[in-house]
Amino acid sequence: ATPTALMVGTGRGAQLGILIKGPEVLESTRRVDTVVLDKTGTVTTGRMTLQAVHAAEGTEENEVLRLAGALEHASEHPVARAIAAGAEERLGALPPVEHFENVPGRGVRGRVDGREVTVGRFHDAGGAQGGAPLPPELAGARERAERQGRTAVVVTWDGAARGVLAVADAVKETSAEAVRELRALGLTPVLLTGDNRTVAEAVARETGIDEVIAEVLPEDKVAAVRRLQAEGRTVAMVGDGVNDAAALATADLGLAMGTGTDAAIEAGDLTLVRGDLRVAADAIRLSRRTLATIK
Ligand code: ADP
Ligand code: MG
Repeated sequence: ATPTALMVGTGRGAQLGILIKGPEVLESTRRVDTVVLDKTGTVTTGRMTLQAVHAAEGTEENEVLRLAGALEHASEHPVARAIAAGAEERLGALPPVEHFENVPGRGVRGRVDGREVTVGRFHDAGGAQGGAPLPPELAGARERAERQGRTAVVVTWDGAARGVLAVADAVKETSAEAVRELRALGLTPVLLTGDNRTVAEAVARETGIDEVIAEVLPEDKVAAVRRLQAEGRTVAMVGDGVNDAAALATADLGLAMGTGTDAAIEAGDLTLVRGDLRVAADAIRLSRRTLATIK
């Protein structure tokens, strides 16, 4: 009877939009007590839009947007797409970039119009790279944006901070309900993100999550999962990004958003075909029910 029950479980999973890698996956759903949720693209839509451009005194807003937009044009990151699209919409064609470099979890840098430009959160590492502090008008703009739950990135060129760009992402309509369902299954939700703590806490509040791990570099997401496991917790992780793949593989149960990157899907034990987080709760409920049938 056992193989039949498993086949029923996986068949029902496919109907719900859950692809299960193998029957052995079901076993780990029984013990899971913690569910780590990646923020961008998992709890939020990941479709960001440019909300505001702030320039330092003596700098033109359009110049901030033009140089940042040019640089971000070469990046695939959701923040980058928002900035490049916003810049093109306002300014038309953007200048070319030389020596482009993507620094995962931090931002981008390169040469535009003879200037060394950076866009991102290099400042959080302790001062702008190039050593320039954030002028008070930019520090204020960044803080206000973050309190509203927006992601604020700093634009520097030639070693000085010249502007702040605020981009907004929306929490998926279904995320708060999904968090309630996960809690009802006895799981503690934890929000995990490379984004700023203030932004992460705004998203956590909106969705009913109490535990937040923020400002985590991509390579440290695995360590974050391991730390929870070291506390004796059994961890499910839901993620979508290339940054999440290693953490999905490390978690006791990895759930990949089918709307996400191939790397995440390959690393996961389960794929949630639609980008709906409620299906994560469905998946755990179904797996537990299937196991109950077997016994
Ligand atoms: P998440 O874990 O939320 O998916 P990432 O680890 O990809 O986020 O990025 C963390 C932070 O690094 C972003 O919130 C942003 O501040 C900054 N960042 C990353 N890539 C870029 C980029 N291309 N341009 C500007 N900022 C970036
Ligand atoms: Mg993500």
